[in-house]
Amino acid sequence: NRQRFFEHQYIDPMKDTSLFLKNVTRVNAVIIVLVRNKEIHELRKTMRYFEDRWNKKYNYPYVFLNNEEFTQEFKDLTKRITHSETYYGLIPKEMWDYPPWINQTKAADVRKEMEDKKILYGGSESYRHMCRFNSGFFFRHELIQKYDYYWRLEPGVDFMCDIDYDPFRFIQKNNITYGFTISLLELQDTIPTLWETVKMFMNEYHHYIPRKNLIRFIDNINYNGCHFWSNFEIGDLNFWRSERYLKFFDYLDRAGGFYYERWGDAPVHSIALAMFLEKSKIHFFNDIAYMHPPFQHCPIEKWFHESGKCHCNPDKNFDSTFGSCTEAWFAL
Ligand code: GDP
Ligand code: MN
Repeated sequence: NRQRFFEHQYIDPMKDTSLFLKNVTRVNAVIIVLVRNKEIHELRKTMRYFEDRWNKKYNYPYVFLNNEEFTQEFKDLTKRITHSETYYGLIPKEMWDYPPWINQTKAADVRKEMEDKKILYGGSESYRHMCRFNSGFFFRHELIQKYDYYWRLEPGVDFMCDIDYDPFRFIQKNNITYGFTISLLELQDTIPTLWETVKMFMNEYHHYIPRKNLIRFIDNINYNGCHFWSNFEIGDLNFWRSERYLKFFDYLDRAGGFYYERWGDAPVHSIALAMFLEKSKIHFFNDIAYMHPPFQHCPIEKWFHESGKCHCNPDKNFDSTFGSCTEAWFAL
């Protein structure tokens, strides 16, 4: 009765028995957590789930990043919750500050205006630094440079099903660039000029855009707002390090919308993926049950629940509800 909309075109990791063999060799991958000291307790909760549901079987290393020094307490509490290596990185100033061409008075005025209009995080300066860092810099941080793949993790998120295979190995084997669990519509008030900036980029750099691309996923005369929710990402770091993506990020950064508006890293990532990739490079992780309040992806197939592997309510699954772009993704 609840026929899934993607069955006919889905690479299903659950059907690849070789992925489930006891295989201790790891991929060159890292778990990246951008986090503040004060979020330690939400983070401990998340790490507990993440370890129990998955990483205790693989022990992938963690890199924690912060624009301020981590406290000793933060380091002690995170180290003791995992058997993995843990590394703690300070983000250099130039990755978390205004570039010289930004008019900071204008940026402050915009924050005031957006705050008055009650736009989510509209009045926040640090949120903008964070979005710019996640758009253009996390993959070039010195502690990240040696890795090829990453899983982005945030304090406060939950994983509600066992993950019995290595998603890094899965994406490497299938030559996948990026994996998501939740897609949704962006608040248009945060990105008034993003799409026209993207269109100028596409005109100027059309040689970067392959004929087979995914622009139809996001373009409905204007940007339709569809994006992959970037608080969860499993992906190939070398995509972000590519010349075309770096050019794209610089182009957006020069235009100033990270500060004069409130461009989020999720639409920026998704627009780049849509411009540069074809559909087979992007994977929907149906089997990874994931909650970042207020939305969750909970697989609806009975098997996940009857096997005892999950603890989420499939009726709360966001995929097919208003605001999700996941059905549209599979209809492409
Ligand atoms: P939301 O998911 O859009 O509501 O934003 P969050 O508050 O969850 O922030 C996104 C991620 O960036 C989370 O991992 C936060 O811990 C992290 N983050 C946000 N602001 C800061 C900041 O000022 N400093 C640091 N170090 N991390 C931040
Ligand atoms: Mn968050």
